[in-house]
Amino acid sequence: MSVDPCTNTGEDFDALPDHEFRARFRRWLEQHCPADVRRPAHRLRGQRAREWFRLLYRHGWRAPAWPREHGGMGLSIPKLIIYDEELDRAQISRTVDMGETHLGPTLMKLGTEEQRRLYLPSILNCEHWWCQGYSEPNSGSDLASLKTRAEKEGDDFIINGQKIWSSFAAEATHVFLLVRTSTEAVKQRGITFILAEMSTPGITVKPIINLAGDDDFCEVFYDNVRVPARNVVGRVGEGWAVSRSLLGMERLFIGSPRNSQIAMRALHSLGEVLGISGERAFATAWAELSLELHAVQCLYRETARVLGQGLNPENELSMLKIAATEHFQRVTEAMMDLAGEYGPIGEVPVGSDSVDIRQLYMLARPATIYGGSSEIQRNILSRRMLKLPND
Ligand SMILES: Cc1cc2nc3c(=O)[nH]c(=O)nc-3n(C[C@H](O)[C@H](O)[C@H](O)COP(=O)(O)OP(=O)(O)OC[C@H]3O[C@@H](n4cnc5c(N)ncnc54)[C@H](O)[C@@H]3O)c2cc1C
Repeated sequence: MSVDPCTNTGEDFDALPDHEFRARFRRWLEQHCPADVRRPAHRLRGQRAREWFRLLYRHGWRAPAWPREHGGMGLSIPKLIIYDEELDRAQISRTVDMGETHLGPTLMKLGTEEQRRLYLPSILNCEHWWCQGYSEPNSGSDLASLKTRAEKEGDDFIINGQKIWSSFAAEATHVFLLVRTSTEAVKQRGITFILAEMSTPGITVKPIINLAGDDDFCEVFYDNVRVPARNVVGRVGEGWAVSRSLLGMERLFIGSPRNSQIAMRALHSLGEVLGISGERAFATAWAELSLELHAVQCLYRETARVLGQGLNPENELSMLKIAATEHFQRVTEAMMDLAGEYGPIGEVPVGSDSVDIRQLYMLARPATIYGGSSEIQRNILSRRMLKLPND
């Protein structure tokens, strides 16, 4: 049987020269990527997202940041950036897979051997699909004030409480959540990181319809939910440190310039469609936004490089989160302004796809909230960099 020359056969991609790695992945995407995955302004979710990830997995292109010993591609940061650039070039939809980006790396770092064996392969083949249960109705920015309780009973914990804004919880098979296992003077203590199956009796999921009309996130109620104690990741009471251990990668992911690039392409198309590309006002706005995008890209590369050295560039990550998400918003606001009365209904052709300006605008709004709001990032920077006092 002949081997598909574009298929990764388990080789060490980091040993490849950058241009060769880029060419290989580009060729694979051209040959294998289904048309409905090439819709940059759309979020791929549910069954379709899983099918796409399974295709990547079968061909060895899944989990680019995971070490090869755990079934990933083991890419270094420069290669990861190339991987991301090629997804962008091929106009691939952005897909959230919290098992891959959040839980997997946490288990590699802090999980037990049994947890790694049980969960990592099921993340890779998408048998398990994870959501994150951190936020509560009165604990978002001040997450350490969370109140969902977990009480020990024999070899189990019994969980009671409510989470909110759990993205894609309605389609998830599992959840990793933060629960309070004791009340201590310092509220960050006594929090535990635990894993649960969404089908466990006592878990009720209620989708919330957002302003764009989508049911991306949910309220999740926990009513006497029994979870084995072996599902605790890290030590009981030390879940705060477990959840913080991956914050850097999360902010880097959110700080990727990809959303802005998609919006810039749509803005460009809008200029063409409206016949205003050559006008001074459009050209000025375009030039300003392009320069800002360049700055975000530089900050992204530099932050990724430092993170790749095993350091934790917290200030840069906060700056990147602010810069990338606020730029994304500025581009979509410019699109709305230019589209005028057509903005709320307008579809703009972008390559073989079309972009609903209103949809893109809506996608940009929450980006300055999730993963730590802009205000909170500015507070962090004012304390760490400017040495200003707390509140
Ligand atoms: C699209 C989306 C997806 C999400 N997905 C998930 C998920 O999968 N799992 C999950 O657990 N959570 C999720 N979240 C929740 C998210 O983490 C919280 O919304 C976020 O932490 C903010 O918390 P909050 O909504 O309670 O707002 P609050 O903390 O109540 O803040 C309200 C406003 O006050 C500001 N503010 C708060 N404190 C301060 C302060 N000290 N100084 C200055 N300003 C302040 C904030 O910046 C914000 O503008 C998601 C949110 C969104 C929008």
